[in-house]
Amino acid sequence: MATACDMKNRIQGHPCFGGNHHKNGRMHLAVAPKCNIKCGYCSRKHDCANESRPGVTSRLLTPDEAIIKVREVMASPVVGPIIKVVGIAGPGDPLANEETFETFRMVKEEFPHLMLCMSTNGLLLPESIDRLYELGLHSLTVTINAVDPEIGAQIYRHVIYHGKHYTGAEGAGILIANQFAGLKRAGELGLTIKVNTVLVPGVNDSQIPLIAARVKELGAFVMNIMPIIPQAELAHITPPSEEMVAAVRTANEGIIGQFAHCKQCRADAVGLIGKDITMTIAEAA
Ligand code: SF4
Repeated sequence: MATACDMKNRIQGHPCFGGNHHKNGRMHLAVAPKCNIKCGYCSRKHDCANESRPGVTSRLLTPDEAIIKVREVMASPVVGPIIKVVGIAGPGDPLANEETFETFRMVKEEFPHLMLCMSTNGLLLPESIDRLYELGLHSLTVTINAVDPEIGAQIYRHVIYHGKHYTGAEGAGILIANQFAGLKRAGELGLTIKVNTVLVPGVNDSQIPLIAARVKELGAFVMNIMPIIPQAELAHITPPSEEMVAAVRTANEGIIGQFAHCKQCRADAVGLIGKDITMTIAEAA
């Protein structure tokens, strides 16, 4: 597992993990449309709600289109020099799409200096993490909303695992077990790990410190507690106030570092966080 000093060195340059986000930019490639679970707050009309800006639908790319986009962006004298990270965060779950692996392979081959970053619900992490490591994955975000399958069952409507459809605590239990097993392996491999947790008031409040302690022990270095945007099956939930989110972060910062400047970027964001550009070939040239 990486030491605190290793971790500090590893996050240098990564704007989404606490590196200088005024200077270092990232490029998200929206190559992963399919998802293998159903979160109760996800409408699937838009990008993955665990990672992306609410209500945004990114333009889907094939791996071939994605590498062309990377070439364009890196060739731009304006944006190219600031891009340090290439991430895949959707619009579905990256690990449910073989395109994720193919895209990372092509990017690493052509731009070995760029850091590869990925966000996932973690269902397929145990069977994918070594492959991702071999492809050169640098940083990983896993969204974990519960440690108790009974509570997870109130958040996840179903899980499709190796072709079988699971619901209730059974489905949530498979997902949660895989999230922690995959995260443990990622920690052993020395990856830089962030955990996103969607705060669902009245449902998973009690789980937050338990998640914080468990992921810290397994090698995560920062936690990003995000307020639920009530939609779909969980549309009836009253979202937490900013004060409540801040209080929950404060209550857990003694367990694991808390991340407060996440902007829930869209799955095709390019540039500095908060100052994204929309880029066409002509603009990049
Ligand atoms: S992981 Fe959850 S929020 Fe993300 S696309 Fe799948 S169902 Fe939606």
